[in-house]
Amino acid sequence: MSFATTNPYTGETLKTFPTATDDEVRTAIDRAHRAFLGWRDASFAERAAVMRAAAAILRRDVEKYAPLLTLEMGKLIGEAKAEVELSAAIFDYYAENAERLLAPEPLPVADPAEGQAVLVCDPLGVLLAIEPWNFPYYQIARIIAPQLSAGNTILLKHASNVPQCAAAFEALMREAGLPEGGFLNLYAAHDQVELILADPRVHGVALTGSEAAGAQVAAIAGKALKKSTMELGGADAFVVLKDADLEKTVRWAVFGRHWNGGQVCVSSKRMIIADELYDSFLARYREGVAALRMGDPFDAETTLAPLSSQKAADDVRAMVAQAVAHGATATPVGPDVPNQGAFVQPVILTDVGDSNPARHWEFFGPVSMLFRARDEEDAIRIANDSPFGLGGSVFTCDPERGAAVARRIETGMVFVNHPTMVKADLPFGGIRRSGYGRELLGLGIREFVNHKLIDIV
Ligand code: NAP
Repeated sequence: MSFATTNPYTGETLKTFPTATDDEVRTAIDRAHRAFLGWRDASFAERAAVMRAAAAILRRDVEKYAPLLTLEMGKLIGEAKAEVELSAAIFDYYAENAERLLAPEPLPVADPAEGQAVLVCDPLGVLLAIEPWNFPYYQIARIIAPQLSAGNTILLKHASNVPQCAAAFEALMREAGLPEGGFLNLYAAHDQVELILADPRVHGVALTGSEAAGAQVAAIAGKALKKSTMELGGADAFVVLKDADLEKTVRWAVFGRHWNGGQVCVSSKRMIIADELYDSFLARYREGVAALRMGDPFDAETTLAPLSSQKAADDVRAMVAQAVAHGATATPVGPDVPNQGAFVQPVILTDVGDSNPARHWEFFGPVSMLFRARDEEDAIRIANDSPFGLGGSVFTCDPERGAAVARRIETGMVFVNHPTMVKADLPFGGIRRSGYGRELLGLGIREFVNHKLIDIV
């Protein structure tokens, strides 16, 4: 495994980076630990100043930060700019709210004569963040803004195909005034995760990525008795009830399945449509998908990005072939792929029967599975027939009905009349094989603190 920038549109490898040696890993732990010894005592105001500065630099230098995303993983340039803004908003959120979210909490005591009890939140120390390539900045911001605000320090092991994004974020935090060692990017190999988590100065790991990576890293953390949070894959249901506004719903379906090249953990991967609307939904959805335009992700006219690598594109095509081998019907939609770039032509999968294992897969690319639901009960059954439990959505003209159906969908997040969305002021996370723990808001900042009881008798 090696860290390299390979442009998914041209296929050109532009830069490679050597993997860290074990000595470099140990030195980084030392530096992060030394930084923690000072940072834990910094006031909330001091930490907030760093968060605010990081947000301001991201916004000021969006023309520098956004193109790196497009270059390394092929994100459309407009979406890259939106990701820079989202990351800035997360820093602002914690600058504004960290102190309140971690405020000491007096506990009600039965008899005040027996004394006072209070819960305080202390930082733990050095944490490891393992992050994926699909939102290279947002994923970092989502963990470091809360955890630095809480007084922890962080080592980053980013995905091997976004090494320049990782280095840019390390430089960003130094420029924002974070003390040396507070946030360090490591070009670490998989097998160095054990070395890091075994170190007593490292207190936990937050991983966002695939189920396979999650299972392996959670096992290492378990062996070392370290806290972990896991943000893993998803196969969001996009439930369309019979009273939905078809035009609006189809627009959101096309967006929900294809933004970021279809490579989002919360992409609308399974469309579950009421029998009454199914045929007209399918016809309009095909039109909407066919209108997407593949091309250079730096071109503002392009609306469908290449996948992150040629291997990713080949893997998606192989999964579609397997789904078909098990009985599904695959309908390619729109023009053929351009003659360069890691593209996959959009595909609609229908007739994915109950015994087809593809029903339970996560397609990380422009592949839509469509299911016809007999009625609302059947739609909920299909939505919950998944090993994943990340996000989901319900489309209806009756918001109360939508909320009632949302309550019955077994995932960490459900949106009514919108595909699952990511925002600085909403929590993020799932259940089942989508992992455990939450990021963002108070839930996220409290994942890696010592909830310490002080009881004064
Ligand atoms: P991945 O292969 O699991 O990679 C994610 C990160 O984990 C990368 O940094 C990767 O490093 C590292 N990694 C992989 N195996 C590892 C191991 N055995 N030990 C230590 N580190 C390991 O995931 P991906 O396929 O690139 O990303 C897509 C997946 O992430 C999808 O399933 C998607 O749904 C999920 N995801 C989830 C969320 C969420 O918040 N729930 C958000 C985004 C993506 P290398 O690059 O060096 O292999």
